[in-house]
Amino acid sequence: MVRSTATPYKTKQTATLAEKLASMGLHTDIDLVLHLPLRYEDLSSVDSIIDAAYGRPVQIEGVISHVEVQYRPRKQLLARLTDDTGEVFLRFINFYPSTVAQLQSQPTLRAYGELRHGFFGTEMIHPRLSSTNKKSLPDSLTPVYSTIASISQMVLRKRIEAALVTADLSEILPIYWLNRLRLPSLAQALTLLHHPPAYQPIMPLQDRTHPAWRRVQFEELLAQQLSLKQAHQQRALLHAPALKALTTDESHTINWVKQLLQQLPFCLTAAQQRVWAEITNDLAKGHPMNRLLQGDVGSGKTVIAALACLQANNHGLQAALMAPTEILAEQHYQRLKAWLSPLGLRILWLTGSLSKKAKDIAHTHIATGDCDLIIGTHALIQSKVQFKRLGVVVVDEQHRFGVAQRLHLRDKGVNGLQPHLLMMSATPIPRTLAMTYLADLDVSIIDELPPGRSPIQTMVMAGSKRQELSNRVIHWLAQGKQAYWVCPLIEESEVLQAQTAADTYTYLTKLLNPYTVGLVHGQMKAVEKAAVMASFVAGHIHLLVATTVIEVGVDVPNASLMVIENAERFGLAQLHQLRGRVGRSIQQSVCILLYGDKISQIGRERLNVMRNSTDGFLIAQKDLELRGPGEFLGARQSGLGLLRFSDSKTDAAWISVAQECADDLLNNHSIAAKAMLNRWMALREQYLNA
Ligand code: ADP
Ligand code: MG
Repeated sequence: MVRSTATPYKTKQTATLAEKLASMGLHTDIDLVLHLPLRYEDLSSVDSIIDAAYGRPVQIEGVISHVEVQYRPRKQLLARLTDDTGEVFLRFINFYPSTVAQLQSQPTLRAYGELRHGFFGTEMIHPRLSSTNKKSLPDSLTPVYSTIASISQMVLRKRIEAALVTADLSEILPIYWLNRLRLPSLAQALTLLHHPPAYQPIMPLQDRTHPAWRRVQFEELLAQQLSLKQAHQQRALLHAPALKALTTDESHTINWVKQLLQQLPFCLTAAQQRVWAEITNDLAKGHPMNRLLQGDVGSGKTVIAALACLQANNHGLQAALMAPTEILAEQHYQRLKAWLSPLGLRILWLTGSLSKKAKDIAHTHIATGDCDLIIGTHALIQSKVQFKRLGVVVVDEQHRFGVAQRLHLRDKGVNGLQPHLLMMSATPIPRTLAMTYLADLDVSIIDELPPGRSPIQTMVMAGSKRQELSNRVIHWLAQGKQAYWVCPLIEESEVLQAQTAADTYTYLTKLLNPYTVGLVHGQMKAVEKAAVMASFVAGHIHLLVATTVIEVGVDVPNASLMVIENAERFGLAQLHQLRGRVGRSIQQSVCILLYGDKISQIGRERLNVMRNSTDGFLIAQKDLELRGPGEFLGARQSGLGLLRFSDSKTDAAWISVAQECADDLLNNHSIAAKAMLNRWMALREQYLNA
């Protein structure tokens, strides 16, 4: 639909233009010139009605007659436009009095829009009108910008044109980079994008493949790499306690790390040993670690987290582990308590659902150093929580937390020493995303599952086959094995989702009698959830009906069947996470993906991806292609600005060039590096502390 440029009448014009622009994030000249068109209109020529094509935007001009507001069958504004070759009805369903006035007062007008065959003959719905006499036809394509109701296209266009003149767009890149890239200068690129000559084909401009776009995209990527690298360098200037690995001769202190390793019922896999060596190395340095530990679901990240915490304890410091949900925090707490309490370590539990009194007590223990390891949720980053001497912080499922939240943890250090930060994620991040967003993180990858796991068998089945399925489930439970039943995702409403889960629970309780069915969802109180989980772990509950609250981290090895209803509604990465709850023992595990009757062709293909692969990275790559990057980066919560001009299809080779250029600028052209960062200031602020 063509956006009307008319200002809605009676809008309060109290805000100044500058204020309105600021509300769109347009503060400076640079902001304005980087506000690039959404699309273009070709108003540079006029077609005669008889020659004008149907189904794509055209411009016609002629005499206006029969201007009329009709009220039946519904309110609409009609007018007739006639030229030497024919006539077209202009039809407006939403219109302002100013449009009526314009049609009535001007004998001839130009109209821009798509022609179609309508009830009255050839018609154009919601054309954009302009006067014929005011000026000759423009000699460039007309840009269309995203804007707000109170700033018209015309006003915005003028403001941007002015900014193009005043903004400092001088070339920053050294000449040999320009030669190598074979791209226009930024000034040329932006001028072209705001003012493409009329002969310029529209497609490469609209799909953002034109060299002018490439130039803007390159600068954006470059500025991002510069800011990430700079953040990395700045972090190297900060101080953290040097937590060296204890050697056997230092027998005057207890080596908790060694004790846990000796006491575990298993040996670390080669991949776990490798990442542990990387982390040990970081911790020994006097600078804060900033490391992301990636490993597919079930790869054994928890034990690595525990070891990192123990390295702090070895030096008489505290450690904290933060998880995004109470269920997950509770599980970590139980697991780590079982491992570490026997060694004599003091472990404390802190979540928002504790009573005020319990919280106060916990805060005191944390402040006096009366505990070695604190496990909990967001409650850990409240300002009331003051650590006596915090050495290591572990954040599980880090993408669930915002940047600001992670920063809070970093601020919890004492005496000018920052804690070491270990972030964990089971959502594999596609390579190009990692290159663009996580370049300042050191990454360790556990690329091997512990031995003795049998691969999960995944089946795709129509939801209508429930009866058949229930026999299968009963057969499963009869063998003493447990199962999950995951309810449909209802993104709009957690309450509705909980309701659906409750209904499913009632239904399955009857159907699966005499087996015990349990229910857990996001609307339940933390203690209720914990009680249900405990009884599922203990085997009293045979089948657990759940919402996505069980998506992350839950570990019940005897649960080896998972049914997921309306699987087509979930993201692939999310399905992979859910499925990772089974396949945690040597039992053959099965995951059944049920789909609804409204599933699309693409929906089927996506479920087939799940059936055919258990490779988290491959699934993540597909999900990136299908759903964009937000899913991986938790962008919505973190406020991390996604790249505006590059998209998720940006290839790794192109990012590598930007990385190479960033290194060159930082090492050999520090003034250029600074100028580039200044130009892309907004970006810099977002990334500096990420
Ligand atoms: P995730 O990486 O998904 O957090 P967990 O840390 O929960 O995985 O580990 C999954 C399961 O594998 C746990 O029961 C854990 O005790 C077990 N485990 C971890 N490492 C090993 C290993 N090296 N050998 C055998 N089992 C292991
Ligand atoms: Mg985990």
